[in-house]
Amino acid sequence: MALTLFSDESIVTTIYPRHRPCPVCDSDNATHLYTNTMTPIGGLDMSYQVVNCADCGFIYASELPESASYEAYYRELSKYDVMTSTAKIRPVDQVRMAAAVNLCVPHLTADALIIDIGCGHGALLNAFHTAGWACLYGIDPAPEASAKANALFGLQNVQTGIVRQAPQLLPLDQAALICLTGVLEHLPDLRTDLAALIKDLNHRAMIMVEVPASERFTRTPLEPYGEFSLEHIQYFSTQSLDRLMAELGYVRKAGEIVALSEGVTDSLFGLFVRQEPATADMPYNPVGLQDYLTLSGQLMGQVIDTIIQCNARQLVIYGAGSHSARLLPKMAAACIAERIVGIVDGNPNLLGKMIGRHQVCSSADLGQWPDATIVVSSFGAQDAIAEFIGRQFPNPILRLYP
Ligand SMILES: [Zn+2]
Repeated sequence: MALTLFSDESIVTTIYPRHRPCPVCDSDNATHLYTNTMTPIGGLDMSYQVVNCADCGFIYASELPESASYEAYYRELSKYDVMTSTAKIRPVDQVRMAAAVNLCVPHLTADALIIDIGCGHGALLNAFHTAGWACLYGIDPAPEASAKANALFGLQNVQTGIVRQAPQLLPLDQAALICLTGVLEHLPDLRTDLAALIKDLNHRAMIMVEVPASERFTRTPLEPYGEFSLEHIQYFSTQSLDRLMAELGYVRKAGEIVALSEGVTDSLFGLFVRQEPATADMPYNPVGLQDYLTLSGQLMGQVIDTIIQCNARQLVIYGAGSHSARLLPKMAAACIAERIVGIVDGNPNLLGKMIGRHQVCSSADLGQWPDATIVVSSFGAQDAIAEFIGRQFPNPILRLYP
């Protein structure tokens, strides 16, 4: 458990004992790049340090919350289990799923058994079903995953569980393809979890991976420090993903970086096959994040200036996720956090939870602050949120990005 020291009501200093060696090469020789201070949400302080492995060049988060905090976060605060219809699959996710299916299909036989680890509601499995595959299994930590996958897509074999439970809950030994899309960047026990997964696979099974491509972190427009979310604690380049998979005995058969829509980080895809013996001895060739950190620092400065220049005495923050968890400590450092009178969010899992000293309210509660300016604390959903608020409330709205 984390040791939390309360010095007064508003200042919480949390010391986490979870120092990690490099999740790719297991060396314990990293240099500090950035301290990602996050306001606690629902009692969980998800702050961490971003570090750079001096031996293989991988960039990852260390000094983490315990694994139990991540499990609690995904169980209690995750927004992935609130989709209500297939029509709500975002266009960017349609592009990602099409890329995943196109990458794998040339290498699959018609009777291939496909397992999606971290399958959400089963949208990717459904994409494989549409492409002609029928033996489809999945697992996801969101409590509603199993029921939603069945209700939305008629998928019978989606289990609710974490990656570590996959060997007990899924027919891993029969799989022709394991899909890990948007998963590896999340796992606090990356090497252990992957090794447990791979142990039960047959030697012909392929592994398809999709992660945010750190080669593209500086593509603008970008959310300052947006890659350092509550959930993303590994930052892969093509080289470091290949290195990780080589450490596990796999080699890349196919792959590409897929461009996604503006404001969304491009995806790195790789399809990996077993190779004996493993060849993990790869050159040190890191993709640095210094440009990304510099750019993020400049942009965050502009965001704070925008709030300072708004003369409103009362601010309500719209958004209680990663963006706000990162923004609130920066506002506190600029001595403007005391103007915040409330925080609202549209994610029902966050309602009633504490973010820092504020209890998260529903957007329906905005009427209780008629004199407040509403700060849209989101990068990707800024316009949609501003339009949503503007239709229902007369309050001034402050956007943080051009
Ligand atoms: Zn390393």
